[in-house]
Amino acid sequence: LNGEFDLIARYFARPAPAGVTGVGDDCALFGVEPGNQVATSTDLLVEGRHFFSDVDPRALGHKALAVNLSDLAAMGARPLGCLLGLSLPSVNHGWLQSFAEGFHALAARSGCPLIGGDTTRSASGIVISVTVFGQVEAGKAMLRSAALPGDDIWVTGTLGAADVALRLLQGSLPEDEHLLRKVRGALEMPEPPLSFAQGLVGLAHAALDISDGLAQDLGHILDESGCGALLRYDELPRDPALQCLDPDLVRQAVLAGGDVYQLCFTATVDRRAAIEALARDARVCATRVGEIQAGSGLRVVDAQGVRIPLEVAGYDHFS
Ligand code: ADP
Ligand code: MG
Repeated sequence: LNGEFDLIARYFARPAPAGVTGVGDDCALFGVEPGNQVATSTDLLVEGRHFFSDVDPRALGHKALAVNLSDLAAMGARPLGCLLGLSLPSVNHGWLQSFAEGFHALAARSGCPLIGGDTTRSASGIVISVTVFGQVEAGKAMLRSAALPGDDIWVTGTLGAADVALRLLQGSLPEDEHLLRKVRGALEMPEPPLSFAQGLVGLAHAALDISDGLAQDLGHILDESGCGALLRYDELPRDPALQCLDPDLVRQAVLAGGDVYQLCFTATVDRRAAIEALARDARVCATRVGEIQAGSGLRVVDAQGVRIPLEVAGYDHFS
């Protein structure tokens, strides 16, 4: 192997789909169907900040793309392709092989081929930058500003596991191999609900992914839409592995825990049956957890309707 070009050829160049010019030219070329807009988003992952140095490189390759696909899902966009910027302090072939396998496996499965990028040496630490491109029917993307009073609030998947995994790995929770085995996948191998999200276009109003925690991210919808919301804590879908944990910790993980590459979205009450059918078809768990209200601010209540202060959920630590 000699240098950057061999490295790109070996690990990152893959045949591009018909009609697409991929790795190898100065720019990648791809088209969008008439009547569609390009949706694009980029995320940086910095060693020591967004991932542990000893993380499984295959999982890291998967997650680097997954966190970006999650942004496409949040808008209801269909993936078209992605770019990978990689800055490495040194070349470790075993690491690159596994990283590329994890990346390409998810790229293939989600119809988001790697069509270009940049590879450089870094002074210290690994930096990964992924940019995704998708398409969504013009004017139909699910915006944060589109929630309306009376809308149901929905959440896909389950909450809390990624946060608990992070705490276990950071050592801020006592070591528990058994629990870590159950929650680790949520942190390291997230699966954003891409096809379900595309089906939501035209059914849902506002949507976003829960990368910064439900309370904070739902807050963005409320701010942008000029609404308030009621969240029923007992109806929030929580990861079953959390059952063994202290209720205060669970509350914190469920309401404030980030790294959840699932969706929070709003839709009118008359869309319930259609959304449930869509979720069944896409094999996604979609749960109604509250409602958008006139006014402002987020209120979380327990099963008796008693308000749960957000500080109790540890929300303040994250704001
Ligand atoms: P340029 O000098 O024009 O920037 P590069 O030498 O950086 O080109 O890259 C050569 C080709 O390889 C380009 O098509 C670029 O998009 C692609 N490429 C570089 N790094 C990566 C990467 N990490 N993943 C995918 N494609 C890459
Ligand atoms: Mg370059």
